[in-house]
Amino acid sequence: MSSGTLGPFSIRVLIPSFPEDQDRDITIPIMMAVIDHPKGLVVYDSGNNIAVSDGGCKSYWAEGMCDLLQPSQTRADVIDMQLKKLGYKISDVKAYVMSHAHLDHAGNLKMFENAIIFAQQDEIYQARWQAPFQAGPAFVDADHAGTNAFNWAPLNGDYDVFGDGSVVVMDTRGHTLGTSSVYVKLKSGPLVVAGDAIWMEENLEGYPAGLNFSVQQYFASIDRLKLIRDLQGAELVMGHSANQYSSGLYNKWIR
Ligand SMILES: [Zn+2]
Repeated sequence: MSSGTLGPFSIRVLIPSFPEDQDRDITIPIMMAVIDHPKGLVVYDSGNNIAVSDGGCKSYWAEGMCDLLQPSQTRADVIDMQLKKLGYKISDVKAYVMSHAHLDHAGNLKMFENAIIFAQQDEIYQARWQAPFQAGPAFVDADHAGTNAFNWAPLNGDYDVFGDGSVVVMDTRGHTLGTSSVYVKLKSGPLVVAGDAIWMEENLEGYPAGLNFSVQQYFASIDRLKLIRDLQGAELVMGHSANQYSSGLYNKWIR
């Protein structure tokens, strides 16, 4: 699913190393995923906060962030309504994976107070205190305030959620201090919900995202995901790929 779109803006706003002579404007989705496992429903990320819907951005995000990212989100794009469309309720969600703490991914974390929340321990920490060079409007304190008493499952690495190898939270840090992806074993083959470990195709070509905690770890994580793609034939579902959005990968069940 997508929590609306961001843009249009130059691709070089997000990926400054991208060649200037290939510059173009992009409008990007904000990927979120639902995994329906026999033992429980899993949600990966919750998009922009509900307040960002229908032009309400400046009531919740820093004004400059609204101007830069230009979020377009209707109320129907928000995770609770998306689940409703699929026949689920927020209270059906057994496990919530917080890929990372940025504003376009953890925006509605607070809706999931009854779920077990998986996140890298480092990311839980980073949501509450950012290294000075990372501090800024990409983290919205209000997304995280009041969640300390939630059912956190802090991770230091990978975790097999149901113990059968079918849904495995992966440590793909680098974009942020503790970014997570999810490996999913489907009947049709493996798929990795990569999230912001890979924003879009250009990152796979060696152009790093402009906002990274560690470029070195970022590329190590991308290399790890590429191995799973190349050796297992896994599809990599990226955090903000306009191509994957327009290709019909969104709003459909893959079994
Ligand atoms: Zn993002």
